[in-house]
Amino acid sequence: MADTGASRSSNSADGDALIELRGVERTYGSGHTAVRALRGVDLELKPARLTVIRGRSGSGKSTLLGIAGGLDLPTGGRIRVGGRDVSAMTARERLLLRRTEVGFVFQSFGLVPFLSAAENVGVPLRIAGIPPQQREERVARVLEEVGIASHARHRPAELSGGQQQRVAIARALAQRPRVLIADEPTGHLDAETGLLIMRLLRRIVDSGTVTVLVATHDARMAELADDVFDLRDGHLRPASI
Ligand code: ADP
Ligand code: MG
Repeated sequence: MADTGASRSSNSADGDALIELRGVERTYGSGHTAVRALRGVDLELKPARLTVIRGRSGSGKSTLLGIAGGLDLPTGGRIRVGGRDVSAMTARERLLLRRTEVGFVFQSFGLVPFLSAAENVGVPLRIAGIPPQQREERVARVLEEVGIASHARHRPAELSGGQQQRVAIARALAQRPRVLIADEPTGHLDAETGLLIMRLLRRIVDSGTVTVLVATHDARMAELADDVFDLRDGHLRPASI
């Protein structure tokens, strides 16, 4: 009874963190002009949780998210993803890690303007070599999941900001990442639309298999989170909500 052997993720079966940062430092440049963006950050992302990092512009949020997702390396401390030490990986291994374990969403959506919503979502699957039929099924499923299936053939310019962000979220989910990292996903949206996107992220976490890490300078976004941290001057602290 204790061991069903049915766990989808061997790394989370024993309760291990999906992503673990220990004493992470990130300094840009050197000497007098050095910027210490992160000064000893500890963070554990557990499965199926919505974590929000709050902080003003320039507080280090994007730096932290980039390191958590393997886009960037720390200049000090350690980062483990799925129990594996990222600093010890080759650039190619980190690329694979980003493709398989982590999905990114940015405030500027980053959709290809001349492709339809469905085609945009299909791009990473094409790169990953998923066969056409499987690709189409998966694209349809994630578009449905984010509530934009009826706009599958629309191009980005024919979609509102909120709809474009839904497509970007679908694209990130299509790769079936264990962690979805969203850097100010509501930054270019009005308050009401931003809240809908935040609710969507909440629903994605609740529906099962993905952990979501969001950076925001909007204090209200924290209301739907499981864990909230404040980043200030490169230091991360649990928020006293
Ligand atoms: P946030 O996302 O909270 O606005 P960032 O992580 O972008 O914060 O930036 C944190 C600090 O690091 C800022 O002082 C910023 O100017 C600096 N910084 C960010 N990226 C770079 C870079 N590539 N080169 C030099 N400084 C950088
Ligand atoms: Mg930023």
